[in-house]
Amino acid sequence: MAIEFEKDFEERIVTSTLTGEDEGEVSLRPRRLEEYIGQSKAKQNLAVFIEAARMRGESLDHVLLYGPPGLGKTTLVGIIAAEMGVSIRITSGPAIEKSGDLAALLTNLAPGDVLFIDEIHRLNRSVEEVLYPAMEDYALDIIIGKGPSARSIRLDLPRFTLIGATTRAGQLSSPLRDRFGVQLRLEMYSAEELLQITQRSAGILGIPIEPEGAMEIAMRSRGTPRVCNRILKRVRDFAQVRSQGVITREVADMALSALEIDSLGLDATDRRMLESIILNFGGGPVGLETLAATIGEESVTLEDVYEPYLMQIGFLNRTPRGRCATKRAYDHLKIPFLGQTELM
Ligand code: ADP
Repeated sequence: MAIEFEKDFEERIVTSTLTGEDEGEVSLRPRRLEEYIGQSKAKQNLAVFIEAARMRGESLDHVLLYGPPGLGKTTLVGIIAAEMGVSIRITSGPAIEKSGDLAALLTNLAPGDVLFIDEIHRLNRSVEEVLYPAMEDYALDIIIGKGPSARSIRLDLPRFTLIGATTRAGQLSSPLRDRFGVQLRLEMYSAEELLQITQRSAGILGIPIEPEGAMEIAMRSRGTPRVCNRILKRVRDFAQVRSQGVITREVADMALSALEIDSLGLDATDRRMLESIILNFGGGPVGLETLAATIGEESVTLEDVYEPYLMQIGFLNRTPRGRCATKRAYDHLKIPFLGQTELM
């Protein structure tokens, strides 16, 4: 399987999918479905769809992957292409500015290819409209000329698989969402699954790690493989300096404390966010924008990166009137809970 980048988009694509810190991630990405840990529901379904498509000698139906960042959407796209034995072209919603950009991408696809559009909720409307006939009829409608003499011609496209990834399925227009035959939601990982991921990554990177050390990292990785791999690399630095390179529970704990990651994996921003809700807004409800301005973060970052985990562990509720901290959050931060008027 070859990962090919469209030349024009190359720079933007790279920045929108992988940041400098994550460069090493490429080697940690599982390449086949059986190496992909967790997400058993999504995996089982995909395995059936892939096998059926292969048996029929057809391209896989279009796939929409959604869930918070770092859960393995991009990884899964690479795996799907590898399992189908096809090439993949990678781009992202904001990188496709004009409908012509998308037309260029589509006409360059070979039969069966995967076109991966990350952040697909950020496609603009005119581009989206080119996508509808492409997804449904494998055709491209092109308008030639302007004004009264303009006419439309239809170009046939090869059968391809569009894979869209998004952190916000709710922001996708329904005509677009409905055109994905397969829709898979990725869930946060259990500590047990993250333990396997930590051990697998440590093995690939050649880092000696004790099971208790791996468990410590797993439990403090906020349910997210990307966080887990990132922490592993930082803990390795501490281990090199403090314990002849071996990651023990003590070294992991010391390193995570130094990185201000607490026993549940909350970092300084998580705590600032919860403390702000509790101390500045009486536990909530507080609107997202107000909260973001108060703690100096982007509201999209809070919504996509921080809130999913805080909701998952029952520290935060989203209500129609705003965000509320729960009693559990008070307890964790050791702030006395005096009761709230809002329903918890
Ligand atoms: P997303 O596209 O959802 O933001 P990625 O696919 O980039 O997430 O995953 C981030 C990193 O986490 C990958 O580089 C990979 O090393 C690791 N990872 C993700 N999912 C898994 C998994 N199921 N098993 C093992 N490693 C995983």
